[in-house]
Amino acid sequence: MNRRKSFHETKETKGKLYLVATPIGNLEEITPRAVSTLNAVDAIACEDTRVSGKLLQHLGIKKTLIACHEHNELTVSKQLVDMMMAGQSIAYLSDAGYPGISDPGQRLVQAALLEDIQVIVISGPSAVFNALVASGLDSARFYFHGFLRQKEAARLDEIKDLYRRPETLIFYEAPHRIDVTLRNLLEVLGNRKACIARELTKIHEEYIDGTLQELSEIDPSTLKGEMVVLVEGNKDEMGIKLSDDEIRKAVEALTATGISMKDAIRQVSEMTKMAKNYIYKVVHHH
Ligand code: SAM
Repeated sequence: MNRRKSFHETKETKGKLYLVATPIGNLEEITPRAVSTLNAVDAIACEDTRVSGKLLQHLGIKKTLIACHEHNELTVSKQLVDMMMAGQSIAYLSDAGYPGISDPGQRLVQAALLEDIQVIVISGPSAVFNALVASGLDSARFYFHGFLRQKEAARLDEIKDLYRRPETLIFYEAPHRIDVTLRNLLEVLGNRKACIARELTKIHEEYIDGTLQELSEIDPSTLKGEMVVLVEGNKDEMGIKLSDDEIRKAVEALTATGISMKDAIRQVSEMTKMAKNYIYKVVHHH
């Protein structure tokens, strides 16, 4: 166990790691504390030097930027830890929002903690929270998934694992995959209430409330920019949990008693509380 106080008198000679949240669109969403931290640190590391360079230019801050992104985070983290061990304080910025939330930063934090370097967060925006509180869906309990995997079979599997969760489900998505994602969500979760929160804090900010069926029928060319997809959690009583194999066997067992395929699928859907479409697909595509 280790209790980590952020503010206490210390003879610490190590530098500190500041994780600074940055705007997710509107550049005014940067706090005075973030600005003073960026001014005070010895070095700034960031996901993309061009993106953070623009922000720093906007803030009138000139500092050398060190690139620390998905592909070099492990090695650069070691260098940054060495710098902090030598007494330099470092701020880390991702392209937008919180570092470490569907963005690099986590490995750097872990590397710093291994050396007992203090990690201090400078709060700011994150798309997940704007989307959640304005969606009208249950914001008391939520589950953040970030991006779904890219391969369709893998993402269907991922979504299936979320089927029984009662919390509001939150996904990040890119515009070129939004239509597939909405279809996949509809297919596995059934026609639940949902919301797309698009271009948050920017000129084209938009919230689209509707059912997954309605949202999946939107012309994808009107769904540009950055977006968050939120889906109502499972409000039904929990069904029995069955694997795809067990679903097939249950349908087979029912049809063997002479009832129609359609009725068998309906019964298994009622039993498992999984969408009829999904049961149908499991039975027919293997
Ligand atoms: N670290 C960021 C955060 O704290 O929100 C997330 C970075 S992730 C690489 C980028 C994704 O976040 C986008 O594809 C989108 O799903 C979501 N996102 C970021 N900014 C957004 C915005 N202004 N409006 C809607 N979604 C946004």
